[in-house]
Amino acid sequence: MATFARPIARLIEELTKLPGIGPKTAQRLALHIVTLPREEAHALAGAIVEAREKTIQCSVCCNLTDVDPCRICTHESRDRSLLCVVEDPKDVIALERTREFKGVYHVLHGAISPMEGIGPQDLRIQELLQRLQGGEVKEIVLATDPNPEGEATAMYLARLIKPLGIRVTRMAHGMPVGGDLEYIDEVTLTKALEGRREM
Ligand SMILES: [Zn+2]
Repeated sequence: MATFARPIARLIEELTKLPGIGPKTAQRLALHIVTLPREEAHALAGAIVEAREKTIQCSVCCNLTDVDPCRICTHESRDRSLLCVVEDPKDVIALERTREFKGVYHVLHGAISPMEGIGPQDLRIQELLQRLQGGEVKEIVLATDPNPEGEATAMYLARLIKPLGIRVTRMAHGMPVGGDLEYIDEVTLTKALEGRREM
């Protein structure tokens, strides 16, 4: 049986590790990459290395950034008394697209999921609590995804934060249940933000 040349097999193996890339797609991408003009293949490889090397987590909000603190945390017009908690960096992008939210963010990097063995200690919750000790935050909007993991995470955080005397709200319903924040359109997200309710 014919097999791929070793370097191609290695490339396929690496590509298969990426989310959403199955063996067939990995093969197709690998065969495409090895027939690219040399400079294009180098540009792709270089972009991967550069993005990985220069991307860090903001020491304040845990979002991905190339400067620390990130540009949102240091932006002069952002309201630091209003803090929106999200699961992933891509949720920040989704909310920023609405141009409605003027506060700052905290990125948990996941949600509580007993099924996947993800507990509170695996999320950036300690960093959040530490941040709240400054006393600047007056309201926390829990914008975790409207699915069971996101709801469980919101409940857990509300129980932790409410005793600190900080107002805790949840993005309104009207968001598709079981959905993922990043796929929700801007109008729905804006409405969900406006209609946030006390937890
Ligand atoms: Zn930040």
